[in-house]
Amino acid sequence: MLGATGSIGASALDVIARHPQRLRASVLSAGNNVRALLALCVRHRPDHAVIAEPALFAELRDGLRAAGLATQAHAGAAAIETLAASEACDSVVAAIVGAAGLHSTLAAARAGKRLLLANKESLVLAGELLTRTASAAGAEIIPIDSEHSAIFQCLRSRDASQGVRKVVLTASGGPFRGRSRAELAEVTPAQAVAHPKWSMGPKISVDSATLMNKGLEVIEAHHLFALAGDRIEVVVHPQSLVHSLVEFVDGSTLAQLGLPDMRTTLAVGLAWPERIESGVSGLDLLRQGRLDFEAPDLHAFPCLALAWDAMNAGGGAPAILNAANEVAVSAFLQGRIGFLAIPALVEHALTTLPRENADTLENLLALDAQARRITELALAQYALHV
Ligand code: NAD
Ligand code: MG
Repeated sequence: MLGATGSIGASALDVIARHPQRLRASVLSAGNNVRALLALCVRHRPDHAVIAEPALFAELRDGLRAAGLATQAHAGAAAIETLAASEACDSVVAAIVGAAGLHSTLAAARAGKRLLLANKESLVLAGELLTRTASAAGAEIIPIDSEHSAIFQCLRSRDASQGVRKVVLTASGGPFRGRSRAELAEVTPAQAVAHPKWSMGPKISVDSATLMNKGLEVIEAHHLFALAGDRIEVVVHPQSLVHSLVEFVDGSTLAQLGLPDMRTTLAVGLAWPERIESGVSGLDLLRQGRLDFEAPDLHAFPCLALAWDAMNAGGGAPAILNAANEVAVSAFLQGRIGFLAIPALVEHALTTLPRENADTLENLLALDAQARRITELALAQYALHV
């Protein structure tokens, strides 16, 4: 369980704990929250615990010892990669946030693990490489994103090559749905992370507010289901009950519905192709009453259009988009820039940097680093002007 202390981590561990005969979290990893990781170790008793921040190793080791646990302590990004690829596990839930999750996700794919992939940024940054690596190693990728899980459940696979006309990703519209561009200038980080339907980590919550999350998901769908951009649509659905749809050539459309709770998605991934209890109750359609759909407002939320353009441009454009967005979102969360500076900074990076040379991991990582640098440099300027 990579990213065990996060929102996806909590949902995954909740489902795992419901099935002690069938599932066990053997490895737990976290970024730098040792206390939260220790608490999870006490509860789930994994064989291994890893903290990404090397300076926190002693605190983890001593905490495990003090709690009387046999869990082995590890630290550093390399240890996360090693464990993700090791015999210690047969499935890997990749739920580290951001491009920081790429190496461990790739390591799990290379080792042929069943990969429950929540870390969408790794697909945006290196989608071709990751899917190629997984298929070469026989690693099965199961999407852990409600929309992509919906499509996966409708297709019963990641194969959309037979009879599929298009897929339709639903978007809640986020906390600012219906606001004009001018009304978005003054919104605060606290407002942006208060998602109306889903409880998620801060970065993806801001991405949902800008609609960049849906943009990343379009690119994610492109890689997961090998679909060209013109066969992927986005529709805003504020109730977040229809998680996505697949339209077939015969005019039939299949959708997957359920309450907005990631434990369903995780239960699907953890037991696939079987079904297990997730703790989520069923959908009471009479109580919910209605399902509404509307077109996304690309003028107020330009991030979705930027992501679409980056996907169509191909090459390194999605890597640049993702890196610039991570820097901009982090600066917004720290109160250093306004909400509208996020798309402006992403566009700045996309128009400033050359997009070619995205064929190898080294090239992609170099582009990622360059995009982070020029976005950092532009922060001050955009803080004043946007
Ligand atoms: P989160 O911020 O709640 O948790 C992130 C986890 O990653 C934490 O355990 C943190 O310790 C760890 N982490 C952060 N930086 C790290 C680093 N450098 N090295 C190692 N570990 C690090 O995030 P989340 O909401 O759980 O999202 C995780 C991923 O899942 C993201 O890619 C997100 O887009 C995706 N996702 C989340 C949801 C959701 O409902 N939360 C839904 C779909 C997809
Ligand atoms: Mg999603």
